[in-house]
Amino acid sequence: MTETPSRALPARARVVVIGGGVGGTSVAYHLALAGERDVVLVDRSELTSGSTFHSAGLVGQLRSDPTLTAMNRYSVELYRSLQLGENPPGWVECGSIRLASTQERWEEIQRQDGWAASSGLEMSLISAAEAQELFPLMTTDGVVGACFLPTDGQVDPSQLTYSLAAGARAMGVAIHTHTRVLGIDTEGDGLRRRVTRVRTDKGDIECELVVDCGGMFAAEIARMVDVRVPIVPMSHQYVVTEAMFEHRETPLPSLRDPDNLVYYRQEVDGLVMGGYERQSLPWTASASSYDRIPADFNGRLLQPDHDRFIEISENAAIRVPSIADVGIRSFINGPEGFTPDNEFCLGPTDVGGFFVAAGYCAHGIAGAGGIGKVMAEWVLEGAPPMDLWHMDVRRFGGSYRSPSYTLARTVENYESYYDIRYPAHERKAGRPLRTSPAYAWHAEHGAAFGEKSGWERVNHYESNSVVDDEAWRPRGWAGRHWSPAVVPEHRAAREAAAIFDESSFAKIEVSGPDAARLMQWVCDNDVARGAGTVTYTQALNAGGGIECDFTVTQLDAQLFLVVTGTAFANHDASWLRTQARAIDADVRIADVTGAWACFGLWGPKARDIVAALTPQDLGNDAFPFLAMRETTVGDVPVRMVRVTFVGELGWELYCPTEYGATLWRTLWDAGRPHGLVAGGYRAIDSLRLEKGYRVWGADIDPGHTPYEAGLGFCVRLDKPGGFLGREALVAQKEAGVAQRLVCLVLDDRSQVALGNEPVRLVDSAGEPGAVVSRVTSGGLGYSLGVSIAFAYLPVEHAVAGTRLDVGIFGEWVGATVTKDPLYDPKSERVRA
Ligand SMILES: Cc1cc2nc3c(=O)[nH]c(=O)nc-3n(C[C@H](O)[C@H](O)[C@H](O)COP(=O)(O)OP(=O)(O)OC[C@H]3O[C@@H](n4cnc5c(N)ncnc54)[C@H](O)[C@@H]3O)c2cc1C
Repeated sequence: MTETPSRALPARARVVVIGGGVGGTSVAYHLALAGERDVVLVDRSELTSGSTFHSAGLVGQLRSDPTLTAMNRYSVELYRSLQLGENPPGWVECGSIRLASTQERWEEIQRQDGWAASSGLEMSLISAAEAQELFPLMTTDGVVGACFLPTDGQVDPSQLTYSLAAGARAMGVAIHTHTRVLGIDTEGDGLRRRVTRVRTDKGDIECELVVDCGGMFAAEIARMVDVRVPIVPMSHQYVVTEAMFEHRETPLPSLRDPDNLVYYRQEVDGLVMGGYERQSLPWTASASSYDRIPADFNGRLLQPDHDRFIEISENAAIRVPSIADVGIRSFINGPEGFTPDNEFCLGPTDVGGFFVAAGYCAHGIAGAGGIGKVMAEWVLEGAPPMDLWHMDVRRFGGSYRSPSYTLARTVENYESYYDIRYPAHERKAGRPLRTSPAYAWHAEHGAAFGEKSGWERVNHYESNSVVDDEAWRPRGWAGRHWSPAVVPEHRAAREAAAIFDESSFAKIEVSGPDAARLMQWVCDNDVARGAGTVTYTQALNAGGGIECDFTVTQLDAQLFLVVTGTAFANHDASWLRTQARAIDADVRIADVTGAWACFGLWGPKARDIVAALTPQDLGNDAFPFLAMRETTVGDVPVRMVRVTFVGELGWELYCPTEYGATLWRTLWDAGRPHGLVAGGYRAIDSLRLEKGYRVWGADIDPGHTPYEAGLGFCVRLDKPGGFLGREALVAQKEAGVAQRLVCLVLDDRSQVALGNEPVRLVDSAGEPGAVVSRVTSGGLGYSLGVSIAFAYLPVEHAVAGTRLDVGIFGEWVGATVTKDPLYDPKSERVRA
């Protein structure tokens, strides 16, 4: 089907969608479905002429992230319903099998079975023989077990795109092919900069909103407005075989054998077979330049790269021996946009009205339905319907402006695509990049570093390992990257003092005449209480969902410092900018993360340690909890902030970065006689679990309100002028919450929940009931000697004493809802 290019391009439209692949047509379709009919979609060539036309068309739903699973489930529902319409997309609900050809993979599949249960996705564990019954061409050699997802399927990617385009057009969307975007105009500076016009070779379109659905070209399009989208075009290959079997009444399920790096699906009487090579090949991007995709690369493929495919072909014949005896009908080598962390790039950017929906990492067909749906809501309502942080284009820090860093991280991800990702596994590419001023000290003292947003952060110090603490090692996967060093690091914070390098904390300065107005509007707590005050708060969306969770220090009447998680600098700054734009606030929002080192010193001895180093009165009257004082510690000028994420007396000490190494040494030397221990992030996580502190992105997210999350103590409904999300909270308070985040203690301390495990009810007789939730985060509490997990439960079950089961690697472990927090519920130690 060819679109007629002769119709005149509209001079204006509310929304312009750039790109007529499966992504762009789905976004246009869902915008129209949501009621926005003033939409123009443009493509520089034919529809489906980017990556879409050469896709293998497999549609799998299960992902480790429940949000993505929900999106893919929606895709299946959509494709199923389109199949019944006038423009069927060739949807075949053939099911899919995933094999475990190693014991470790079998454990992974059991874990995934838990994810499926908590996502409500139909999946069953099957034996090797049962898998072979469903897919007779395979051998069972070495197969430990498998899983079967009956509602997975396959679709014709081009037909799907045309089906979505037809639906969009029927609802009023104008589709203009052979219309190349040459530029995008913006007006305004800084926060007020926003898109005004899309310039094409067929004329200009004035618009309010642009959605960049350019696939592997999306980075090039985003550069037109100086936005960096780290997408690398990578060569991706599969073959279509000659006939391998007689006609079948029921289609073969697709088959994935990740241990052999291969997948198969039926294509008429042959197979499509492809995989992820260990030796990848980026296309057109290099370490010193961004993608340079030729201007005429449309509807085209790359030359087959037989050498690079040998490993995949040989592995394919191990699992399906007959494939070695048939010829190849076609060899497809097509480029596709991959990202550095294998997640999509979705959502708004710092240019008002400019959205991205691209970088689908060879999952665009499976994802397109869900992507279109969430993007339509994001574009029209300003917020997505669910927590999409993993896919939010703003998650990438400044380092991804570097083509070499982006390339190294993308290649690493591609080549390890089918590897088992053990919890706490650390990546290697592009390290070390961002280091604290105390980095050398940490390395000398045996630090095991983890990486987050390019920062090297101490997970633990090997030098703190105590062999006796091996008894704490969790069973299974949770024990793989666990270190006994965490136990003494945790205990030191509770019993004496521990020091943690938190220099990677993201720090955002909000300044200007409207700084207080903005912060009060954005935050649910009262954050403008005068210079030197510190406030823990959330920033909510209009529905009351938690968009950000951070601490705000007021430095003076027009200056606030927001401190948030390492990975959230861009996200939170972007949220603040969006709200500043919405209320036309005269502010400057600057990421000052690198300007300040930050060390957390906590424990009952913390005051004694610092007292000898500072002229500042550290008593509760002069320096209460949630206060900031500018002073000196040793020879170093510091801002001391009395907060805690571990539930003990102490401070975060901030100093200009160049003083950082000296401040660390000063605190260390002063602390040693008091039993000070240097600790890492694993100990912090354990300490915060005991104290019930929530982590944004895991325990709290845009889909949950402060009332549901147990953070109602932050909400100031009576704050003059109100705040964003207030009306939703008022309504929820009146109606009562339907669910609440609770703390669970597992019966067996050696079993540790890693997140996303299903939680099911148990009746008074101990009989299991329905799966009602999933674990948001979990881990060991070394002071209390328990395995802890958080989960949202329907309110009727969210009461202390309720018995539940948590599904951990196929085993149901008993658990009890407990009071929250478990540790120091009156916060006496924090205020000591
Ligand atoms: C070999 C291979 C196998 C795959 N197999 C699967 C699979 O089994 N399952 C699965 O889910 N996914 C698979 N994928 C991935 C899937 O094909 C992609 O994720 C998806 O097609 C991307 O769609 P898109 O709309 O984002 O991009 P595209 O299809 O590339 O569309 C982008 C469009 O933007 C247009 N454009 C670019 N620049 C401009 C401009 N300046 N002006 C106007 N228009 C512009 C292009 O012409 C293009 O049509 C596979 C990919 C490959 C390469």
